[in-house]
Amino acid sequence: MNILFYDAKSYDKESFQDALKAFPEIHVEFTKTDIDPRTAAMAEGFDAVCAFVSSDVSAPVLDILYKKNVKLVLMRCAGFNNVDMEHAKELGIRVMRVPGYSPEAVAEHAMALALACNRRIYKAYNKVRENDFSLAGLMGFNFYEKTAGIIGTGKIGAAMCRICHGFGMKVIAYDVYQNAALKDFVEYVSLEELLAKSDLISLHCPLMDSTYHMVNIDTIRQMKDGVILVNTSRGALVKTEDLIEGIRLHKFAGVGLDVYEEETNNVFEDRSGEILEHSTTARLLSFPNVMITSHQGFFTREALSSIAETTLQNAMDAAAGKPSCNDV
Ligand code: NAD
Repeated sequence: MNILFYDAKSYDKESFQDALKAFPEIHVEFTKTDIDPRTAAMAEGFDAVCAFVSSDVSAPVLDILYKKNVKLVLMRCAGFNNVDMEHAKELGIRVMRVPGYSPEAVAEHAMALALACNRRIYKAYNKVRENDFSLAGLMGFNFYEKTAGIIGTGKIGAAMCRICHGFGMKVIAYDVYQNAALKDFVEYVSLEELLAKSDLISLHCPLMDSTYHMVNIDTIRQMKDGVILVNTSRGALVKTEDLIEGIRLHKFAGVGLDVYEEETNNVFEDRSGEILEHSTTARLLSFPNVMITSHQGFFTREALSSIAETTLQNAMDAAAGKPSCNDV
């Protein structure tokens, strides 16, 4: 099995080369280029391509892969909203993913963002570096005995519920399905009740038509004043323009974003030398209570090695024609 690995970063190579020791039948060629309609033809001669959340796996890309006889797309991530699945099915291109690698990696990052926003760690760090030891602007609130509202209680949301419970928070949740494993310490409520009662709201549901822009000015208005909002799921769960309006209305004590709507061109790129015109990210960062990281929730040693192992096992299953629970 020959795989062309798009958008390869040094850490991808390290984790995959390590995992490849257990898969001698697989040959992986790494390219720094990401897949899009201009680069998809590079996959000629390969059995599969390996892509990521920020890759373009739209219909035109799938058409090119089909023409080049590439019948397998290995997503090295959980999300697949960037893959035109309907078209992949029409073409008979198999798409596989890594549904869960280390839910704790993302949940721990969500809590890190919540804490950093609450206690203004990013400001405090810079102040102390400048020998400014004053505390003005750094006051937060205790999470202990406050209410955490978790939207989406699948693998990552459940891990976040456990973390919040460990902090001594009351944990309420909203999901279209209830997770029985959480019943001892999580109370399921309606979305309206969650919005109205939570001091910390953390989003852990996938991006779908039903969740697109679920945080908008109407839902923001229903939140408690002084709430902390954290999004480590998908940018488009939050309507950025409305979030900015909510921040300007002083709704939030803090906003922590690992994902945001206009992230696609930014994710994992060094754009520090560029003048970013029309950047809503820059607008968001102009607020003292907003902290943004660049889609790094998954980025732990444990998660990367688990992603590599599962992706290579997916390739083996596909080569053997086996159905898999990792099929999209
Ligand atoms: P999961 O499939 O285990 O859980 C998702 C949960 O969302 C399910 O319980 C589902 O019932 C629920 N849900 C579906 N529709 C909903 C709705 N309308 N309202 C409320 N809940 C709804 O997924 P997971 O592994 O926990 O991942 C959650 C999300 O985290 C992924 O979809 C992905 O977008 C994101 N993610 C981010 C990173 C990162 O690095 N920041 C890494 C991995 C995953």
